[in-house]
Amino acid sequence: MEPQLSKTRLICTLTGSTAEEMLEQMTLASAGGCDAVECRLDYLTPPPSPPQAAELISRLDPGVIATCRPVREGGRFAGSESDRLAILQAASEAGAEFIDVEADVPLEDRPEGEIISSRHDFEKCPIDLTELAAGLDASPAAVNKIAFAAKNPSEALRAFDVVRDSRKPTIALAMGAEGLLSRILAGKFGAFGTFAALSEELGSAPGQPTVADLRDLYRWDSINADTELYGVIGCPVGHSMSPAIHNAAFEAAGVNGAYVPLLIPPGCDSFNEFLDGVLSRRWLDWRGLSVTIPHKHNALEFVGAENCDPLAVRIGAVNTITISPDGTVRGDNTDYAAAIDALCDAMGIRRDDLAGRKVAVLGAGGAGRAIVAALAHYRAETTIYNRTVSRGVKLADEFGATACGLDALSRMRAEIVINCTPIGMHPNVGGSPLERIPETVRVVFDTIYNPIRTRLLGAASDAGRQTVSGLEMFVNQAVAQFETWTDKPAPREVMRQVVLDRLRG
Ligand code: NAP
Repeated sequence: MEPQLSKTRLICTLTGSTAEEMLEQMTLASAGGCDAVECRLDYLTPPPSPPQAAELISRLDPGVIATCRPVREGGRFAGSESDRLAILQAASEAGAEFIDVEADVPLEDRPEGEIISSRHDFEKCPIDLTELAAGLDASPAAVNKIAFAAKNPSEALRAFDVVRDSRKPTIALAMGAEGLLSRILAGKFGAFGTFAALSEELGSAPGQPTVADLRDLYRWDSINADTELYGVIGCPVGHSMSPAIHNAAFEAAGVNGAYVPLLIPPGCDSFNEFLDGVLSRRWLDWRGLSVTIPHKHNALEFVGAENCDPLAVRIGAVNTITISPDGTVRGDNTDYAAAIDALCDAMGIRRDDLAGRKVAVLGAGGAGRAIVAALAHYRAETTIYNRTVSRGVKLADEFGATACGLDALSRMRAEIVINCTPIGMHPNVGGSPLERIPETVRVVFDTIYNPIRTRLLGAASDAGRQTVSGLEMFVNQAVAQFETWTDKPAPREVMRQVVLDRLRG
């Protein structure tokens, strides 16, 4: 491993419980393209003597950070402070490039060597983060490190402030899933490094990504000062396919962008706080946000109806925010067009050709609402079938449709059926919202994309009807977001393949 001083280091944390495991992990880290390793000596069982620590460090590749984290700072070393510092001293003398020494160790007790002075708060983002960071900056250590638990991504943005404001090489990380962006994007802000684990099980801190995810999913090597930022806001967001789709699209289209998951707790306060945080830091170069449950209405409220696509306003949901370099924002809803285009493309018709066609929409939730609004816009004759009849009626009244309960499905006279309920979705793939496909139906569109062929679509296809999978809608909305943000044609096939690979995987 050849650490490059100017590059933000991808540092793999080694957490073996024996020297042999540490060496095995180092080989994997090296093969995985890491720039350096952090050897967590406090993970060794039993704790090493100073000569044992020295022996291990001398067998690791150059560019090692030696850490022996005490229990008081979230580590595993439970021995005496003098033993711990002796281990670090031995590691330094054995060739560790850096030793990580907690900032509360008195200057006179610190081992000799190149020191990373570190502070950790596993509970919260310290109120006095700026002062703590300034204190580290004023210390004689070579590198500053500050890691804190973030309760939302807006706190994670403060890690970037710390890196930017420091005079010395600095690592600033927000822990937890809410802080993941601080780890992925460290390279954009010229941080000294970011930490990654060989696997989720081998991580040493909450929210630490794997080496493979950083390199392959988030394109670590291509992130630099000019990278423009994007992300998906949701709760939960961990299983979203959007980071994989958009990062692959950036790669294929040669766009210098990075797309990250943003776990924002429900409620407009945390949503607004993050958006305010982004807009007040123009230097982030944040250009776009996908928005999913439960924040689509918050997005509309934040952006303001006057800055949104009128149909998005009528639907009451914004799933795409575009941020201009001058800080102005725009809100769109790519869901409704994605659904209508998936349907029209399959039928070989234009959107306007939907006028007067009889469409049955099953479900009156978020997806149903977007589709009913779009069908109304294109003057289709829509009937909503919903379990909770009053909800269906309310939606129908808003958009000039008709509504009934699920018991009326057997009397359906539609040409097109669109399923907007989760019936038949993974893992309950045995379900179907329709017992049989009515005679009048020519086309069945299931908005579910997992599985791609639901039981409903299987039955429709067996009965000789045309079918449309939710996969097409899902890809369409991502394509529309990409094109809105970048003004370039989206690499649709690449994006589609990512979804297919994920679903099959
Ligand atoms: P939602 O807001 O929770 O609405 C769910 C709807 O389904 C409601 O109308 C609900 O009826 C009905 N429903 C739920 N369980 C039911 C059951 N067991 N029997 C009968 N009706 C039931 O969800 P959503 O966001 O609209 O999502 C609905 C589906 O759309 C999801 O399964 C998802 O796969 C699909 N979707 C696809 C895409 C895409 O890009 N392809 C995008 C978004 C959504 P009540 O009103 O009675 O509760």
